[in-house]
Amino acid sequence: MPGMDDPPVIRLPDPCLVVLVGPAGSGKSTFAARHFAPHEVLSSDAYRERIGGDAADQRTTRPAFAALHAALRRRLAARRLTVVDATSVTHRARSALLRDANAAGIPAVAIVLDLPADLVRARNAGRPRVVPEDAVRAQLAHLERSQDGAGLRGEGFSAVIRLRVPGAVEAVRVERVASAEPWRADG
Ligand code: GDP
Ligand code: MG
Repeated sequence: MPGMDDPPVIRLPDPCLVVLVGPAGSGKSTFAARHFAPHEVLSSDAYRERIGGDAADQRTTRPAFAALHAALRRRLAARRLTVVDATSVTHRARSALLRDANAAGIPAVAIVLDLPADLVRARNAGRPRVVPEDAVRAQLAHLERSQDGAGLRGEGFSAVIRLRVPGAVEAVRVERVASAEPWRADG
């Protein structure tokens, strides 16, 4: 499965784990809501809110991710397509998700929202919950480093879809292909 930039169609094997990758403000939650059912999406912000009453409270990060991973493992064991809506800009965050997918024998697909930094910063500033600017800067830097060398493909994702153009993010369609069938990420 090759990596693909700005494809018109994303074909997902079903079941799979979809890892959205992008800094705060890149549009992960919007993308998830547009293409997936609410029960298919595990959001780190939602777990933080559930556990600590506040999506911005970083002290709840550890228990929130423990709960997210537990739910993810249950869903993947039941062979349910699942989307993780968290920044996942670090190798460490992604490898924890890949471990869950590998343990269940489910392929993992990364969808990287790799949009211009100025746009990401402007969108973050317009969110109901604005993430501190230095945190977004660090996330952008992590994302850039993630794409060095073999990049995400080298980490073990079955496919890496990179969306780099805002218009392509809005236009892309998502299709599901029963996993017994051959599938391609390109249009
Ligand atoms: P997240 O932090 O990555 O989950 O980003 P969000 O999905 O919360 O989006 C951040 C802001 O950008 C919100 O105000 C969204 O309405 C806006 N946004 C996200 N995706 C798009 C998009 O495809 N087009 C436009 N015009 N705005 C978007
Ligand atoms: Mg979000």
